[in-house]
Amino acid sequence: MITQEEVNKLKEKIASADAVVVGVASGMSAASGFVFYYQEDEVFRHIAGQLARKYDRHNMFDLFYDRRLTRGEQWALMLRTIRYVYECYTGETYLDLAELLAGKEYYVATTNQDAQFYRVFPDDRITRIQGDWRFWQCSRPCHDKIYYNEQESCRLFKEIKNDTLPDELIPRCPHCGAELAPWVRSHTFLQGEYYRREMNRYVDFLRRNTKRKTVFLELGVGMMTPMFIKEPFMNMVYQWPQAFYVTINPQHAIIPKEIASKSLAVKDDIAVVLKQLLGKTIDAAKCAGKADIFNPSRVY
Ligand SMILES: [Zn+2]
Repeated sequence: MITQEEVNKLKEKIASADAVVVGVASGMSAASGFVFYYQEDEVFRHIAGQLARKYDRHNMFDLFYDRRLTRGEQWALMLRTIRYVYECYTGETYLDLAELLAGKEYYVATTNQDAQFYRVFPDDRITRIQGDWRFWQCSRPCHDKIYYNEQESCRLFKEIKNDTLPDELIPRCPHCGAELAPWVRSHTFLQGEYYRREMNRYVDFLRRNTKRKTVFLELGVGMMTPMFIKEPFMNMVYQWPQAFYVTINPQHAIIPKEIASKSLAVKDDIAVVLKQLLGKTIDAAKCAGKADIFNPSRVY
C-alpha cells in the first residue's frame, strides 16, 4: 500500500507542477468497476446473453473478437456495449481525478474507448488515441467522417432478437454501402481529419510544456499497447529537464533506471490512491466492494 510519505510527495509534485499530462488506459476504468471487457461479471453476462455459453467465452474481449460470431451476433454485442457506454454510471476514479486536477493546467490522452472522460472533463482537453464507442465510421473506410450513434444505436438495440441483429438492419455507409463499424482501434480504424485534430491538440500542449515543470501522470496503462502512452511518457521525461513521471498501476508500475531519479511508481489500486491524494477515507471508495479494492487479479 502507498505510504504517507509517497502520498505527500505525489501531492507536492502535482501542486507545484506548471502542467500535468495525464495518460490513462483500461486500469482506470477497471478501478471504477468497469471490468466486463476483461472479466466475467454481471455486465458481461447481460451484454453477451446466450452467446457466452454458445462460444464458451468469458469476457467481452474474447467474445467480441471470436471469429465464429455471425455479423448479426457481433452487432448485437456492439449495440449492447454502446448502450452500456451511454447509460452506465460515471466512474468514481474519474470524478476523483477531476477533483485532483481542478484549477491545474492539464491535458488527457487516453486509449479508453468508453467515453468516461467526457462526463467530467471538457472535450477540448481530451485526446482519444483509440477512438470512442459512441461513434461509427465506414468499415472500409471510404470517406473521412465519423457518426455519433446515440439515437441510431438505441433504435437498433430494440431490434435485437435471439442475441442477433437481423442482417437487413445492420447499419451501412451512406456513401459506399459497406457496413459501418465502431470507431475504435482496428486495422481499418479511421485516423482522418477528426483524429488528427485531436492528436495535434495534444502535441501542441506537449510542445508548450517541454521546458516547464511538467508531471506525467500515468494511470492504469498495461503492456498491450505501451507505445501510445507509457513509452512516449518515459521518453519525454528522459528528455525534458523538469519533467517528472508518476505511474499508478498495481501491475505495470515500471520505471526505467534512466529516469529513476525523476519518477515515482505506485503499485497500488488507482481508486484507493486517488482517495488518499484527496484526503478522503478509503472506505469512501464505493466504486468497488471492499473485498475487491485490493484484488490483485484485476486485469489491466
Ligand atoms: Zn463507405
